[in-house]
Amino acid sequence: MPDRSHMQRTIELARRNVADGGWPFSAVIVRGGAVVSEGVNTVQKTYDPSNHAEIAAIRAATTRLRTLDLSGCEMYVVGLPCPMCMTCILVSRIERVIFAVDAAAKDKALSALPSTRELYRTLGRDLSAMGPDFVQLSEFSDAGVDVFNEWNGKART
Ligand SMILES: [Zn+2]
Repeated sequence: MPDRSHMQRTIELARRNVADGGWPFSAVIVRGGAVVSEGVNTVQKTYDPSNHAEIAAIRAATTRLRTLDLSGCEMYVVGLPCPMCMTCILVSRIERVIFAVDAAAKDKALSALPSTRELYRTLGRDLSAMGPDFVQLSEFSDAGVDVFNEWNGKART
């Protein structure tokens, strides 16, 4: 059951981030009802496009808990996460995302930022239709797979 107080905290963090000159995004990760970590968007302060609130909160949670597996955790966010954050949510195995604003309302209110819905649409396309050129140097494919297999060998030992 989502806890309204965690969402109120999330919105307050976003509001404070705006007051500090940041963007209106925050995230709170909760496990067993207790706050594990918090994060705010710092992209314009750090010139790092990956410094979204969700990723900041995940980094803080995995560092604090010393694990890459956030199973059993839930994340509170103001708006539906962008695809980059959603990927980080998926690989860290966060089990539930509680959001206040859906993608359509987020896009409408934040028209100066990349559209969350358009980013999801773009990622649903074939590589050739995403925008950047993707060029495979296939003569290096075996060398790349060799590195993967070296890691497999070490991971098993
Ligand atoms: Zn994001």
